[in-house]
Amino acid sequence: MIPSSLPPDFIPFNRPHLAGPELEYIRQAVAAGKLSGNGWFTQRCQQFFEQQYGMVKALLTTSGTDALEMAALLLNIQPGDEVIVPSYTFTSTANAFVLRGARIVFADSRPDHPNLDLAQVEALITPRTRAIVPVHYGGTACDMAGIMALAERYTLWVVEDAAQAIEATYQGRPLGTLGHLGAFSFHETKNLSAGEGGMLAINDPILAARAEILWEKGTNRAAFARGEAARYEWVDVGSSFLPSELNAAYLWAQLEHRQAIQQRRRQLWEAYAAALVPLAAAGCFQLLPVSAEGQQNWHLFALLCHTEAERDALLAHLRTRNILAVFHYLPLHSSPYYTARHDGRALPHATRFGQTLVRLPLYHDLQPEQQQRVTEAVESFYRYPGRLPSS
Ligand SMILES: *Cc1c(COP(=O)(O)O)cnc(C)c1O
Repeated sequence: MIPSSLPPDFIPFNRPHLAGPELEYIRQAVAAGKLSGNGWFTQRCQQFFEQQYGMVKALLTTSGTDALEMAALLLNIQPGDEVIVPSYTFTSTANAFVLRGARIVFADSRPDHPNLDLAQVEALITPRTRAIVPVHYGGTACDMAGIMALAERYTLWVVEDAAQAIEATYQGRPLGTLGHLGAFSFHETKNLSAGEGGMLAINDPILAARAEILWEKGTNRAAFARGEAARYEWVDVGSSFLPSELNAAYLWAQLEHRQAIQQRRRQLWEAYAAALVPLAAAGCFQLLPVSAEGQQNWHLFALLCHTEAERDALLAHLRTRNILAVFHYLPLHSSPYYTARHDGRALPHATRFGQTLVRLPLYHDLQPEQQQRVTEAVESFYRYPGRLPSS
């Protein structure tokens, strides 16, 4: 056993879980004699998404980061191109395009939610703008109708960062299938996991054939395997984006059990809401609104504190009770890497979410009594004399 130094009553922020047949499927992949990419489990997963989600093509990748990098390659993003990305997101959303030499034009969040504020996006578009990358924070849909209309008007690509948004919808359609491309993550902390893993959804048929080539190191291997090419050769740029069958086998087990997985997350999310809505109503903190235009996927449960100092004190309070809650993201426009490259605009909402947002532990095997410990710890922090904000 890998030793653990954590106290026995420690509540981690996240914990991976087995839906059931993961280890058996990994055994089957070994027995089938193919552990490299694009084997039976990979194809099973990809077919599932193409058929159930309506993607033109689904390609598993080694991470969500990789899916975004593949998207940037596929769209031929060049040095000097501009890409509009929310500042309040994970580094990978921006890095994928920075790696191609693009300049990132950061968009602010909505006042009430980390998702990008569409009302401010049009003013950021210039003749060099090539793409918009909306991030569906916590599986809550961005205004995709508005984003796609804007993209059409200015002839821009839309790459959805749906890393947190598996199984969530917008107007009845899966997030990640509305833009030209959609990037998903199957990282350990996401709803469905492969340990590390991701997927690029190709929703525009124009991009499908080339996507398969970039995915397999710039070769026509996939077409050759289907008997569509006479020779297996180097035909374009590319990289090794495809995951091992070990990861795909784990993912397939999770996909088969996605309803039970989602059901459990929903129960946990609703239990947090039931316990914490009264405290939010009393002014202790704010909760994030859900979208009326889509169904979220219960990926995360977040609180917004009044100040950064209050946020840090709350995290420390939880930590003394052996509960690990976390904050994120330090806005990318003011990061050590990008500040000097940023155009200087203040992005107050992204900055505020970076200072005040707290994510509570939310994972499949979180037990009711553990969850109660978390909500009681939050409550005790705000009940402590002098902590409740004066009204
Ligand atoms: C998790 C995540 C990623 C990166 O996914 P990985 O699979 O960890 O590489 C990208 N964007 C967002 C918004 C994420 O939450």
